[in-house]
Amino acid sequence: MTETRGTGETRETTTPGFGHLLARRTAWGRSDAIGRILAAANAPGVLSMAGGIPAPDSFPVSRLAAVTDRVLSRSAAAALQYAPTEGVAAMREAVAARAGETGAAVGAERVMVTCGSQQGLDLVARTLLDEGDLVALDDPGYLGAVQAFRGAGAQLLPLPTDRDGMRVDILEDRLAAGARPKLVYVVPHFHNPTGGVLDEERRRALAGLAERYGFLVVEDDPYGDLAFDGERLPSTDVHSDRVIRLMSLSKTLCPGLRVAGLTAPAGLIGELVAAKQSSDLQTNTFGQYVLAELLGDPSFLPAHLTRLRTLYGDKARATAALLRERLPWLVFDDPRGGLFFWCTVDDPQVTSDLLYEHALAQGIAIVPGKPFCIEQDGSRVLRLSFATLDEEQRQEGVSRLAAAFAKARAD
Ligand code: PMP
Repeated sequence: MTETRGTGETRETTTPGFGHLLARRTAWGRSDAIGRILAAANAPGVLSMAGGIPAPDSFPVSRLAAVTDRVLSRSAAAALQYAPTEGVAAMREAVAARAGETGAAVGAERVMVTCGSQQGLDLVARTLLDEGDLVALDDPGYLGAVQAFRGAGAQLLPLPTDRDGMRVDILEDRLAAGARPKLVYVVPHFHNPTGGVLDEERRRALAGLAERYGFLVVEDDPYGDLAFDGERLPSTDVHSDRVIRLMSLSKTLCPGLRVAGLTAPAGLIGELVAAKQSSDLQTNTFGQYVLAELLGDPSFLPAHLTRLRTLYGDKARATAALLRERLPWLVFDDPRGGLFFWCTVDDPQVTSDLLYEHALAQGIAIVPGKPFCIEQDGSRVLRLSFATLDEEQRQEGVSRLAAAFAKARAD
């Protein structure tokens, strides 16, 4: 329904009776598309290839149990207490160490612990963006980032993207033509949703443009540790100091603790900490103690990541083979890491929205690509997760998708 605000503007509202009280910014980044899709995926009897969630058997449960016991027996007084906004010292050090292994060396003073990388995106947006500021990003793009940037009032500069990530040459053209983004947002490994990996040459070029034009690169990397062959490219921050790195642990340890880290240039960390302080004071202390203890064991992470790469690599290969055998109308590149297939429906009669509706009716959830697309045509693309279904569910899910396609064609 629409309501008239105090300023005389009308707007759509989901809060009848209160629309006139809502701040203008509440309308800016709003998108219920993915929420609706994921809610449908959770309906009873529905198999889901929709969510971007890790496999439950990827969680290091027994190690977490042991570490939790240790933290409670040795450090309960501190671990259950308030902690500094920027994060618990041991967790900041663990994030700095991981940052140094995968990019430029940083001191713990340049680390802030956040409640997931999603909060990092929000804090970066609130700290750096004024209404009307420009943010460049891949199109299709990660919806959580689009929401955070739009929510801060930013204008988006969508850029084409391919298997090697953002078309940095097109960014360069846009800059030369006068575009002045404050931020350029990239997902450097196994982009959500496209699966692209920003290649080495483009990283260098992007860093060079950041230096030349004075923007910041926001590098959001939840999937870099999930390369099936274990190879990852160094962060863009080895080429430039103008980089904020968001280092989620959700896909490699677990999302439920909501502990992530970011690194930022020295001059910005204080501003980001101030923004976090007004938001939630701090990230949960106990979770930081637990993860710092886990990451502090040098034998843990390498073995754990090897297990995850095998787990997801096997799932991706098995799913790819089955999709190719049973759904020849679905076109995709084999993923090299991450959790997703980014697919095109190769049939002029079937859009991904139509397939989505029929798929839900058959009891299999997928994500149609349109919500990720800013300017690109999203009518025939879709995202499938291979992460959570076991072998039996996979067979059943793909059979349901085949039936959905047949129905959609007959529509
Ligand atoms: N960035 C990207 C690209 C993601 O795919 C996700 C999770 N879907 C996030 C950020 C959010 O991660 P976190 O759980 O750390 O908030």
